Amino acid sequence: MTVQPNSVEARDQAYQLHSYTNARALERDGALVIERGEGVHVYDNNGKQYIEAMSGLWSVAVGFGEKRLVEAATRQMSKLPYYHTFTGRTHGPSVDLAEKLIQMAPVPMSKVHFTNSGSEANDTALKMIWYRSNALGKPEKKKIISRIKGYHGVTIASASLTGLPNNHRSFDLPLAGIFHTTCPHYRVFAQENETEEAFVARCAQDLEDLILREGPETVAAFIGEPVMGAGGVIVPPAGYWEAIQTVLRKYDILLIADEVICGFGRTGEMFGTQTFGLQPDIMTLSKQLSSSYQPISALLINEKVYEPLADESAKIGTFGHGYTASGHPVAAAVALENLAIIEERDLVGNARTLSPLFLKRLKALESHPIAIEARGVGLIGALELKPRDGFALGQLGPKFAALMLEKGVIGRAIGDSIALCPPLIIDEHQIGTIFDTFEASLDAFQAQLESA
Ligand code: PMP
Repeated sequence: MTVQPNSVEARDQAYQLHSYTNARALERDGALVIERGEGVHVYDNNGKQYIEAMSGLWSVAVGFGEKRLVEAATRQMSKLPYYHTFTGRTHGPSVDLAEKLIQMAPVPMSKVHFTNSGSEANDTALKMIWYRSNALGKPEKKKIISRIKGYHGVTIASASLTGLPNNHRSFDLPLAGIFHTTCPHYRVFAQENETEEAFVARCAQDLEDLILREGPETVAAFIGEPVMGAGGVIVPPAGYWEAIQTVLRKYDILLIADEVICGFGRTGEMFGTQTFGLQPDIMTLSKQLSSSYQPISALLINEKVYEPLADESAKIGTFGHGYTASGHPVAAAVALENLAIIEERDLVGNARTLSPLFLKRLKALESHPIAIEARGVGLIGALELKPRDGFALGQLGPKFAALMLEKGVIGRAIGDSIALCPPLIIDEHQIGTIFDTFEASLDAFQAQLESA
């Protein structure tokens, strides 16, 4: 791409340091400018249309350009553009949303605490757990177990929970006291001749071994996404969550379900917790909570977490935690309207209805000569490309995603996997277009590779 002087691209290069970007490559190549969106589509500054098959960052459930969310924001802006929930203050939108989330919770939950991003929610979960252990007179019970390839965010604590090298390398992370256990990706992590059942048993055994090695009295919580998203869309084998939870219960270890991607319909149920049979003590929510029209996240906590925390706050005088924008009234009003749309239009039902088609088309790509594995559940999936001589691991994915982008479909390269996570408003025809393009891109990529 040639970058024109004074263009948005040029000024972007001049002034902005981007997230998850090779800064030197961006100085050279420039960024893609997305200007507007409508339904499942976004348009760049040349007017080119793309199907946003990643819902932005796994989040725009109701699609782009949803007027009801604009109106909800405007109404709230005019009435009360900002207030906080510190020191005994509150406001209607935060109360309405908290009540709604408790009613929606798939397991009994006691209270809602608002934050602004998935990272902040998970960071806060960890602080709540430390605070709770102190409240219970168990100051040694502070260690947290996460998983290799789990993604939980990028603040210092949540990046430590994340089990991916790019979030640790050169940042001096993870923090002490955070451990990563086996990733439930059968194809990659199973030993030779290990059945799926035996692999699940070994995942649970690895967890138990880690707990015993560290001392069960020192381990406070386990965090996991029902389906791993940013680690490459890794759907755990049958029985995995049951086996893991049996170990957690044995050693009195809390479960945090990171529902930041799964929450609000992605897996074909309202929560991933339902799809995979989790019994979490804390759930962290964001993304589809507001379809990312506003930054907002939430923690749902059960009695076991709330009661000691409340006692401790009474003892020391306050729960000394919270962000200026926590439970922001405009973000809360938008989230409420977004949840109303998800329910009224039965977008969870739409995900459930279209999932067999989505998964069938995805699975069909697995037999393509350059593919190795298709994974998915609900309306989230990924196709992994076969390793190839002459390409380092992780090199093929971005090249393929760039080719598919040219053809008008936005997927996301995660190493050599190409993830798809379309808006929940998608229809059959649009799913067809995504996969027709995916398939044509695979053929074109194969031809490119073979002629190189
Ligand atoms: N948890 C999960 C499962 C996520 O996918 C993400 C974001 N991709 C986060 C946490 C972090 O959210 P945020 O980027 O809003 O901090």
